[in-house]
Amino acid sequence: MEEAACISYDNAIEELRAREYPMLQGTTYLDHAGTTLYSKSLIERFSTDMISNLYGNPHSASNASQLTTRRIEDIRLRLLKLFNADPQEFDLVFVSNATAGIKLVMDAFRDQEKGFWYGYHRDAHTSVIGVREVATEHQCFTSDAEAEEWIERQDDGVARPGLFAYPAQSNMNGRRLPLDWSRRIRTRKQGVYTLLDAAALVSTSPLDLGDADNAPDFTVLSLYKMFGFPDLGALIVRQASAPVFDRRRYFGGGTVEMVVCLKEQWHAQKADSLHERLEDGTLPIHSIMALDSAMNVHEELFTSLDQVSKHTTFLAKTLYEQLSALRHGNGESLCQIYQDPASTYGDARTQGPIVAFNFRNQHGGWVSNAEVEKLAAVKDVQLRTGGLCNPGGIASSLGLAPWEMRENFSAGQRCGNDNDIIRAKPTGMIRVSFGAMSSLKDVNLFIAFVSEFFVQRSLPVVTSPITSVDLDPPLQSRLHVESLSVYPIKSCAGFSVPPGIQWGVRPEGLAWDREWCLIHQGTGAALSQKRYPKMALIRPSIDLDKGLLRIELVGALRNTTRTHEITVPLSADPRLFKIDAVYRNANARVCGDSISAKTYRSSEISSFFTQALGVACHLARFPAVSNASGSSRHSKAHLQKYRRAGAMQIPGAFPDAVPITPGACVPKRILLSNESPILTISRSSINRLNELIKAEGGKAAQAEVFRANIVVAENPVYPPGLEDPYAEDDWRYLQIGQQYFELLGACRRCQMVCIDQQTAEKNQEPFVTLSKTRRFDGRVFFGEHTCHVPFEDVSTPFGQNPTITVGDVVRSYRDDEVHQYDHLQALVG
Ligand SMILES: *Cc1c(COP(=O)(O)O)cnc(C)c1O
Repeated sequence: MEEAACISYDNAIEELRAREYPMLQGTTYLDHAGTTLYSKSLIERFSTDMISNLYGNPHSASNASQLTTRRIEDIRLRLLKLFNADPQEFDLVFVSNATAGIKLVMDAFRDQEKGFWYGYHRDAHTSVIGVREVATEHQCFTSDAEAEEWIERQDDGVARPGLFAYPAQSNMNGRRLPLDWSRRIRTRKQGVYTLLDAAALVSTSPLDLGDADNAPDFTVLSLYKMFGFPDLGALIVRQASAPVFDRRRYFGGGTVEMVVCLKEQWHAQKADSLHERLEDGTLPIHSIMALDSAMNVHEELFTSLDQVSKHTTFLAKTLYEQLSALRHGNGESLCQIYQDPASTYGDARTQGPIVAFNFRNQHGGWVSNAEVEKLAAVKDVQLRTGGLCNPGGIASSLGLAPWEMRENFSAGQRCGNDNDIIRAKPTGMIRVSFGAMSSLKDVNLFIAFVSEFFVQRSLPVVTSPITSVDLDPPLQSRLHVESLSVYPIKSCAGFSVPPGIQWGVRPEGLAWDREWCLIHQGTGAALSQKRYPKMALIRPSIDLDKGLLRIELVGALRNTTRTHEITVPLSADPRLFKIDAVYRNANARVCGDSISAKTYRSSEISSFFTQALGVACHLARFPAVSNASGSSRHSKAHLQKYRRAGAMQIPGAFPDAVPITPGACVPKRILLSNESPILTISRSSINRLNELIKAEGGKAAQAEVFRANIVVAENPVYPPGLEDPYAEDDWRYLQIGQQYFELLGACRRCQMVCIDQQTAEKNQEPFVTLSKTRRFDGRVFFGEHTCHVPFEDVSTPFGQNPTITVGDVVRSYRDDEVHQYDHLQALVG
């Protein structure tokens, strides 16, 4: 349609709306993909029909019954014709909604002798995905290319019938999928039937089933999505594929000619038509009558589905263009629109009238959809947010790995939940969808709403101590992050964060650090390397791609069990833990303090660790946060002990072997809550320590024995000999990349530093030399307790998801330097 024609049609809709849709007054309804609206005329026409006719139950011979039967058959025919489907070639089964249609097909396949194979497209609605649970085998096609490749592939023989299901239009982003797959699958994939979910498509678009050879075997749709009323669905079956239902075992009232129920249990199924066999019980007769009125009125108001398609396509294109053009005052765009790369707004073959998106603030951080919903409610804008019943589409658009969806679920994220940004990723989206009676006014109102509340025109008044100006990492510095390590299982080997990976920093430490522990089956105490040095040979690693914690036995432990590797999902899915009858809440004791942990119920996991260490133990996980608002994830009670140690300051009197820096005894403030038990050590301090050890003929210590999280080293581009050992004694703050950390105090050491982390053997060093050179008041210190200082302003990506990376530039601030930096002063508070 020409633009001018579109606008004049839109004007006509606007007039019609005032008359036919009084419920739209004062509101902006943008959820037609949920359901469209019924017109006043439809309800009046239906009520007149009801009042002027007597309709009986169809299954009898009375006049009233005959009238009902006749009308229903007429309406069935009329609906088939709406899709240009020849009744010789197709039958139409009335069902309560699209989902019920899908389940009828599912039941027929479940009744097949050898079960069935089920394939479904990533963009499928939840109701379509659920079929996989009864399939013998199933496969999710994660892209069109994967589906195409499968269609083209020549299979040799099939073990069992197959069903391939996909949506004609995604209910998430309105993307329209190729309709020729049905034909191609029929010609190329022997024994595979096709199920087309047309529920979203036909609400605003015609569907032509004129050529039965090219049509899907089964097509489902929701009539309320087309007409707003009645609440009905339909399943259209190609007659040629009807035999799939021959194995149907259930029969209900209305679907059988005769049932013998007492002695010889026998029944005669109705044989005339498929719908007679499938419509169990009394049909929703009044709803079917209403459908007749619905089709009449729809035609009168909107002419045809083709016309509706043109109009809504125009509206969606306009909205898409305007949303794309919205920018914050600093030029950053507001909307992240989830458009499929294969679709084009304005082209009805590839794109329906739905726009799915999220907002970003001017710093590039995500705007919470809970906030959008609240404002929309205030302004009476009706839209849909959340997971949109399309898990595959959501996961791929938002880049959520399966473990993240599970993890989000475990962390309390459900459809329609407040806490919708996790790890700086949105967990749902906003969906705007149009219907036949939508108009440009809706588009304009929505754009005005978005501009008013979400476009940030000028830089905001700084409420946070740290502004974006301070966020630039220091360009040049003597120091950088040499390595990052986490210790996923307390007291077991560390996992080295690979270079280039942005690693999360949480209020309770680096991501995945000491997330798990091993607890003694008898005492419930957490095992530690001090007593079980071989724990150093249990080497966990974090596989974020696969969502797994991989645990490998190395060195002397390799032959203690039949397998030397097991995996545990990263997901905190409660089903994997023993709680109550099914799972068990263990009261573990870590460093003498009682904490609650959850033990894994798999005996395979327990026996793996038990055999490896020779002590009966369980793997346990610290409980997950109940929300992402920053409350401490663990009751890592053992860390309080460190905290107390950390509070102890290194007194000014250093032993002679250590150069004394002036002002070394400035007391460091300890935060009370949420401080992050990160351990930072310095490469030049290790080097100094090892020089002294070697001078005495001892064995140099590797950095691993200190079990640090962050190793800070002199930048290799700086000339050698400029090392500054134990400078960390004076550090008060560190800026690492874009994050700030506070140093809480020195870390007190025990003989655990003497366990060689490669062999689990005990040495004397480095503890002996440490005690000679780093002992104060009878305590030995090495390394610094560190906590992350979160930004108060969490509107930026680095505020929403703080991360650090190996190689990050590090800048240190001594206490006496803090006053020179405004932003640091603000940090200190
Ligand atoms: C709405 C919708 C469904 C589910 O329809 P019901 O009528 O709720 O059963 C299935 N698939 C798609 C694509 C939809 O839009």
